[in-house]
Amino acid sequence: MAKRPNRATLPSHLRLPMAQPAPMLSKSRYLSGLQCAKRLYLEVNRRDRAPVGTFGSRFDGGDAVVPLARARHPGGVLVDVEYGRHEEAMALTARLLADPRVPAVFEAAFLFDGVRIRTDLLLRNHDGTWDLQEVRPSTSVKETHLPDLAVQVYVLSGCGVRVRRAGVLLLDRRYVRGEGGVDVSALFCLKDLTAGLEPHLAAVAENVAAFRDGLGAAEVPAVTAGGQCWHPRECPFTAECVTPPGPFDVGQLPGSSKVVAALRERGIHDLRDVPPDTRLSPAQRRVVDCAVTGRAYVGPGLRAALHAVAFPLFFLDFETWSPAVPRYPGTGVYKPLPTQWSLHTLQRDGTLTHAEFLHDADTSPRLAFAASLVRALGEAGSIVVYSKYERTQIHSLAERAPDHRARLLALVPRLVDLLPIVTEHYYHPQLRGSFSIKRVLPALVPDLGYGDLAIHDGGTAAEMYGRMVDAATPADERAAIREGLLRYCERDTLAMVRVREALLGLAGG
Ligand code: SF4
Repeated sequence: MAKRPNRATLPSHLRLPMAQPAPMLSKSRYLSGLQCAKRLYLEVNRRDRAPVGTFGSRFDGGDAVVPLARARHPGGVLVDVEYGRHEEAMALTARLLADPRVPAVFEAAFLFDGVRIRTDLLLRNHDGTWDLQEVRPSTSVKETHLPDLAVQVYVLSGCGVRVRRAGVLLLDRRYVRGEGGVDVSALFCLKDLTAGLEPHLAAVAENVAAFRDGLGAAEVPAVTAGGQCWHPRECPFTAECVTPPGPFDVGQLPGSSKVVAALRERGIHDLRDVPPDTRLSPAQRRVVDCAVTGRAYVGPGLRAALHAVAFPLFFLDFETWSPAVPRYPGTGVYKPLPTQWSLHTLQRDGTLTHAEFLHDADTSPRLAFAASLVRALGEAGSIVVYSKYERTQIHSLAERAPDHRARLLALVPRLVDLLPIVTEHYYHPQLRGSFSIKRVLPALVPDLGYGDLAIHDGGTAAEMYGRMVDAATPADERAAIREGLLRYCERDTLAMVRVREALLGLAGG
């Protein structure tokens, strides 16, 4: 499909890397160069300035997907040579490509024009051409997929490999795992991107030359931070380039971003400088007033909103896990599985007790989660949550746990969401425009935080859950994770108890 590039003055992919005058490029470095010259320079020459772990893994949690994609091609051969030994990998690749008995090559290695690549799947066609498939643990085509494929096709063409079709192999969000193992023929969907490749391919040679010239420079390229720092991928060097917004930045204003843009256009970046006659919504006006006065806002309706509950009060929080590849029968691609709940129960006389559930076996948690939850919540009393998440998960669980459906759905009318109560009736300059429990807690309850815990946030909790149920994780580590997860979820519900208590204090009890 692609013509051999004009700059192809170098012979084959078997040439020695030492012949190259500048640092090697790769697929990911090429994409970094497209995003920002400075990012590419720093990735190659100043890797130590990126946060720890930035360059550790090939995919964002998608490593489990690639072996399943390979299983779709029986007889395919893996170039089982680690990334650092590229010449060796290229030599093995050349032997496999030359062997007509090999229908597919996985992790084939090539080098052309200073760009070193390993291709996920290279599938042999009967006419001597090949199909290139890049495996991605996402469910839709991303903006980076076309240039990613283009640079690979460029290198393959330069190495004399004729590519007939190029595409990305994505996870099919419609797939639901059956009773047996994962059905690799149904788990994936192939998006053929051949038709859109040409303009990207035409730009590769010039881009590669520019990137390699830039890498040879003595100075870090002077680039001003902007939208490219987060798009199409968040850059790992934002701490180096992006000035964090000040404590009174107008970006904190809730609602329409047009208001913020209009203020910035007028050169107004500080909330305290917003002219009094500026048209603002009541919520925006509240944020400006709090910045100017340095005091909290407490709405007249706060007390009534907090008292619209029935005792006992159950403060409830869920944690979920959403593995890319469905792990248990009846589960889908990236579908959240409720794995853990924490429950603080407050009686009218002030007595506070705690209960918790964590499914720590490598089996579907749904039934045990549902059964324990309905048992713990009984039939009366308000269930206080912070956001709509628990409501959504209860509905979803009711669909998949028919034995508990009626009792699960009976919980829904008892839910009281504390988040809109806070949003509507309270503001403090410390919130900086965010009403998340992690931001509200230090403003209202300064003596309680998450700093003493092993796990501090929901993203880490989900990642750790995956490690805990993995049989390959050592037993002592699994036990430590289990304890960390329990304490993290417990803190979330205790935070709700204390936030409500503090709000009651502000509202006059
Ligand atoms: S933070 Fe922005 S300016 Fe800095 S290297 Fe990354 S993309 Fe470039």
